[in-house]
Amino acid sequence: MSNAKNLRRLAGWGRYPAIEAVELRSEQLERITAEATLCRGLGRSYGDSSLPAAAGSVVVNTTAADRLLAFDEQSGMLRGEAGLSVLALNQLLLRRGWFVPVSPGTQFVTLGGMVASDVHGKNHHVDGCFGEHVRSLKLRVADGRVLECSDEHQRELFRATIGGMGLTGHILEVEFPMRRIPSPWIWGESQRIDGLDAMVAGLKEAAQTWPMTVGWVDCLARGDGLGRGILMKGRWAQPGEAPPRQPALKRRFRVPCQFPHWALGWWSMKGFNLAYYWKHFRRTRSGIVHPDAFFYPLDALDDWNLIYGRRGFTQYQCVLPHADDNGPARRFLELFTLAGGMGFLCVIKDCGAEGKGMLSFPRPGISIAMDFPIHPEKTRKLVDRLNELVVAEGGRMYLTKDAFTRSEHFRAMEPRLDAFNAVRRKWDPQGKIRSAQSVRLLGDKP
Ligand SMILES: Cc1cc2nc3c(=O)[nH]c(=O)nc-3n(C[C@H](O)[C@H](O)[C@H](O)COP(=O)(O)OP(=O)(O)OC[C@H]3O[C@@H](n4cnc5c(N)ncnc54)[C@H](O)[C@@H]3O)c2cc1C
Repeated sequence: MSNAKNLRRLAGWGRYPAIEAVELRSEQLERITAEATLCRGLGRSYGDSSLPAAAGSVVVNTTAADRLLAFDEQSGMLRGEAGLSVLALNQLLLRRGWFVPVSPGTQFVTLGGMVASDVHGKNHHVDGCFGEHVRSLKLRVADGRVLECSDEHQRELFRATIGGMGLTGHILEVEFPMRRIPSPWIWGESQRIDGLDAMVAGLKEAAQTWPMTVGWVDCLARGDGLGRGILMKGRWAQPGEAPPRQPALKRRFRVPCQFPHWALGWWSMKGFNLAYYWKHFRRTRSGIVHPDAFFYPLDALDDWNLIYGRRGFTQYQCVLPHADDNGPARRFLELFTLAGGMGFLCVIKDCGAEGKGMLSFPRPGISIAMDFPIHPEKTRKLVDRLNELVVAEGGRMYLTKDAFTRSEHFRAMEPRLDAFNAVRRKWDPQGKIRSAQSVRLLGDKP
């Protein structure tokens, strides 16, 4: 299949691992998936889930199949091809009063990628993951058939595909209802928070009245300051409080080059974390916020992943069960710094109920996500230690961020794996559909 001429270097958003592979791209998604072993969208998953199982093989890029196939202006029901992006939907529909029911922290994601990772957003505590809203999928399964699946038809396959990281089939089309919004602006409130207990209490209290909440944590603070950060809450602004104009297109900046490795030391990260924390000098702020600044602050900087330099970076995200003393989250943050972890970005969120996706990530508890640069000797050991803690605490990590987890750790934190594997075997007995991640974690053949 491969042709040396067409080989290119593919990677996820963390730029590690990278693999030489052939990327097929066409508007005719149904045609090019006929023999495919994996699909990928905009490559915003951090690790190896969107990479083919072996170097030199073929992966289908869905982004040319981006048609909006149907939209009902009464009910909001939308059907789109798998390569349609949230960016395109926002450009078209936000000013007409519609927004996706769940959005991750970047709009550079495709519908197919949103289903495969069963993404969650700041509204998870009230609206669950994206998969909760999906009515129906058009899917090409391993034997070549194209099926429509939903909770009514092929329910098991439908639920394994939601959060199934592309391993049950190729998603061709997605149907879900868009959400009516009162204005395209956000009313937001943010609060500087002194430590972990106050952060978790603040998230839980805010969840009672605010539909969207999230916290940023200074991941290098220790002692009494452990878990300190900024708590952010938001809701769609009502027409009376929103500016009468549409939100202007935000100017985006570009990171011009890879940062050298020495720029990523403890001092630069400490400096960033301190500055970000104290930028919020006033304890509480509130007012109208641009939707892009609220939902997608990182999208303001194109190619921000270059900041982490030549070796790339990873993100570790886990969800830990609630505890009255916040012990699991405290031990996690302590371990991260003790084991030599450091990063610019650490996000905390209290998750709502577990979703219908068989391998969907969120479950009730505290989710913590942190970015860190890859270090050849240290990163694998750090992830091992984080995973050991997560297993011991009864939590789980998020596949769409992962590049380092060992299969034994994944199995230990994922009691739903046998049921998922059984659905995969039923629909794909030869193991045709697979990825670099499924080779690493599920023992698929390369
Ligand atoms: C800045 C940033 C912020 C983020 N914030 C969040 C967040 O708040 N919440 C959250 O949940 N995630 C978040 N993510 C992760 C991101 O939402 C997911 O990784 C998402 O799946 C990326 O979509 P994509 O189109 O880029 O898919 P890709 O990265 O290309 O692929 C991701 C997975 O989907 C599979 N896939 C893609 N298309 C198809 C298809 N048509 N058929 C079958 N399988 C397919 C791939 O095989 C792969 O397993 C964030 C990522 C970034 C970079």
